[in-house]
Amino acid sequence: MTFAILNGDLVNRAEAKVDIEDRGYVFGDGVYEVIRVYNGKMFTGKEHLERFERSSANIGIHLPYGAEQITGMLEELVEKNNLQLGIIYMQVTRGVAPRVHAFPDQNVTPALTAFTREMPRPLAGLANGVKTILTEDIRWLRCDIKSLNLLGNILAKQKAAEQGCYEAIQHRGQDVTEGSSSNIFIVKNGIVTTHQSDNLILKGITKDVILQLCSANNIPVEEQTFTLDELAAADEVFLSSTTSEVMPIVKLDGKKVGNGAPGPVTRKLQELFVAEVENQCGTL
Ligand code: PLP
Repeated sequence: MTFAILNGDLVNRAEAKVDIEDRGYVFGDGVYEVIRVYNGKMFTGKEHLERFERSSANIGIHLPYGAEQITGMLEELVEKNNLQLGIIYMQVTRGVAPRVHAFPDQNVTPALTAFTREMPRPLAGLANGVKTILTEDIRWLRCDIKSLNLLGNILAKQKAAEQGCYEAIQHRGQDVTEGSSSNIFIVKNGIVTTHQSDNLILKGITKDVILQLCSANNIPVEEQTFTLDELAAADEVFLSSTTSEVMPIVKLDGKKVGNGAPGPVTRKLQELFVAEVENQCGTL
C-alpha cells in the first residue's frame, strides 16, 4: 500500500479523496512544492519548506502546521512509502467552501496534501543535453509564487512537447525569463548568467544551489536579465530544477548551442551538483 498525507493524517493513497468544492480544485487557489528525495533523504528540504511558507503567506493562506511539523510528516511519508529515489509533491489550498471568489471565513481550514513518486536517476538528457523551443511568456506578474495555477506553464510545455522538445524557454519581449518548469542559465566567456530572482520568475531552489556552487568554486556568476540575442550567442545554455538538476541545453528552436554538445562549465556544475547532493544525502 502507498501512503499519502491528507490534512495531517497518513492515509492509504487510494482512499485519499478531496471535496469537489475544494478551492484548489475549483480556482487553483493554492500553492505547492516538489522536493527531491535521494537515498530516502530530502535534498534542500529546509529551503523548500521556507519557499512553501513564503508562497502561502503571499496569497494569505495560513498554513495549518509549522515547517518543522510538516517536515516531520514528509519524513514519515517517505519512510512509510519506502521511497529511496523520487519526489514528494505537496500542496496547500485555501480549503473547502461554497464557490465565491473572495476568501472564505477564517474558520475554513486550508487543505494540505502530499504524495510521493519514484523517480530514478540519472535522468535521460543529463549526458547529451536536451532540445528546447522559445515562446512568449504569457503568465501573470507574480511568478515568484509557486501557485497551483500553471496554465501558462502548461501551454508552454505542451508547445515544446509537440515539437519533440524537453522545455520551452519563455521570454517577455526581448528578455528571457525562465523555462516552463525550470530556470535558465547562459554561459558566455566563462561567465554564468541567470535572471535575477524577482516577480517574473520562480526563485528556484536548484538555481540557488548552483549560484552558491559557482561562488564557492570561483566560477564567475551574475543574476541579471539577458536577452534573446544573448541567449542565441551563448557558448553554453543549461536549465535547472528539482527534477532536472543541471540539464544541458543543446538546441534552441532547432539551432545548435555552441558546437551542439554540453559545454565545460555545464559539465563542471553537473559534477559539483552531484557532489553537493552526495554531501547532503549520501553516495548516489
Ligand atoms: N521555474 C518554474 C516555473 C518552475 O516550475 C520550477 C520548478 O518546477 C523552477 C523554476 C525550478 O525550481 P526548483 O529548482 O526549486 O525546482
